[in-house]
Amino acid sequence: MAKKLRRILRRIKIRWMRSDRAWGYAEAEKWTIHLDDRMDDKTLIEIATHETGHVVLPMVDESAIDLLGKQVADVLTRLGFSRNHEGVR
Ligand SMILES: [Zn+2]
Repeated sequence: MAKKLRRILRRIKIRWMRSDRAWGYAEAEKWTIHLDDRMDDKTLIEIATHETGHVVLPMVDESAIDLLGKQVADVLTRLGFSRNHEGVR
């Protein structure tokens, strides 16, 4: 399989954590994002998008990833997206 296609199809691991330092972080080389489960829905969308950006687009700088997370959170929240509270698959 071509390297580019593997990047598109590879599934990112989600790990819940609690931290006083950050809402989340990414281990890009392990394709894993870590998220604090105490976030409200809009913040979760922002941070999950942000950390996913670090995994999928490791060449993109922090300010662009930050902007992407904030804008996706704003758009998805205005469209009505929120957690279903049935857990994560
Ligand atoms: Zn970041």
